[in-house]
Amino acid sequence: MKPDIVVTAHISAPGTMPTLEREFTAHHLWRATDEKSFLAALADRVEGMAVGGHRPIDAALMDALPKLKVIANFGVGVDSIDLAAAQARGIAVTNTPDVLTDEVADLAIALVLDAARGMSAGDRFIRAGKWTKGGMALQRGIRGKTLGILGLGRIGSAIAAHGEHFGMRVLWTGPRPKPAARWTYVADLVELAREADVLVVACPGGAATRRLVTAEVLAALGPEGMLVNIGRGSVVDEPALVDALKGGILGRAALDVFEDEPKVPEALLAMENVVLTPHIGSATIETRAAMGQLMIDNLLAYYAGKPLLTRVV
Ligand code: NAP
Repeated sequence: MKPDIVVTAHISAPGTMPTLEREFTAHHLWRATDEKSFLAALADRVEGMAVGGHRPIDAALMDALPKLKVIANFGVGVDSIDLAAAQARGIAVTNTPDVLTDEVADLAIALVLDAARGMSAGDRFIRAGKWTKGGMALQRGIRGKTLGILGLGRIGSAIAAHGEHFGMRVLWTGPRPKPAARWTYVADLVELAREADVLVVACPGGAATRRLVTAEVLAALGPEGMLVNIGRGSVVDEPALVDALKGGILGRAALDVFEDEPKVPEALLAMENVVLTPHIGSATIETRAAMGQLMIDNLLAYYAGKPLLTRVV
C-alpha cells in the first residue's frame, strides 16, 4: 500500500505532482474546504508532508498530524516552517539545496546587470515609443565596481564568483568569518554597504535576519548604490527601501523577493530605477524539476528507512 502524505500547495515543477501521486496517496491540503476536518481524517496515518509555497507550517498544523515524522520542503529556504516546533516533536525537515544554486545566482547577476545597464528600462523606453524622440539616458557599468554580498552561503558564493567574472571586487558579510572563503570579510553590514556599489542579499529569511537591511544600510549604499534582493523580502526594511529610493538616498534596486508576496509596494511600480521580478530565482523548468525530485527523494528515503538526503533539522 502506498503511504499517505499531505501536500500543502500545488507545486509548479514539471513532473512533481504526477510523481507524488504515483509514489504516495497524496492528500491535497490546498484543496480542502474545511482544513480541520481534512486533517482530523488523516491524523492516524500521515507521517510525511510535501511543502510548497509560503503557507506557514506551524506548531498547530504539526499537532493536527500527530504521526508526522518528515516535512519535505520544496525550496532551500525553510523560513515558513517552525523548525523549533518540528524539532520539539521529533519531526525531520528537509529542503532542496544545491540543485538551485546556480540558477538563483544567474538571476542575481542578471538583476545586477539589468538595474545597472537599464535593460528593463530600455525595453519600456522602446515600447513607449520614446526612442524615436531621442536616445535613452546613459546607464552605469559594473566592471571595476565593488560587490557586497550579505550571506556567503551556496548562492552567495556563486554570486561572488559571477561578480568576479564581471570584473567586480567582492566583499561579504555574515555571522562569522570563513577562513576558506577567498573574498574579504567585512564584519559590519553598514561598513560593507559604505564600501559596496552593489549590495546583494543572499541570506535566509526568518527572525534572525528580519530587516537587517535598515535605512542606515541603504543610506550607506548611497545615491549611486544599488540593492539587489534574491534572499527573502523580510531581510529588507521595505518601507525604508521605498523612502530611500523616493528620496534619492539609494540609487537603484532590483528585487526578486518582497515582504508580503505577491503584494509589491505600489510606490515601486512607478519607479524607473527599480527592476522587479516575481520570485523567480529558481523558476526554470530544469531547476524546478530537480527541486521536485529532491523533495520526493527525501520522502522516499524516509519511507525506505534510509538516511534523509538533505536534512535541515
Ligand atoms: P545557505 O548555503 O545556507 O547560505 C545562507 C548563508 O546566509 C550562510 O552563509 C549563512 O551564514 C548566511 N547567514 C545566516 N544568517 C545570516 C545573517 N544574520 N547575516 C548574514 N548572513 C547570514 O543557503 P543558500 O542555498 O545559499 O540559500 C540562501 C537563501 O536564498 C535561502 O535561504 C532562500 O531564502 C534564498 N533563496 C531565494 C530564491 C529565489 O527564488 N529568490 C531561491 C532559492 C533560495 P553561515 O554560513 O555562517 O551560517
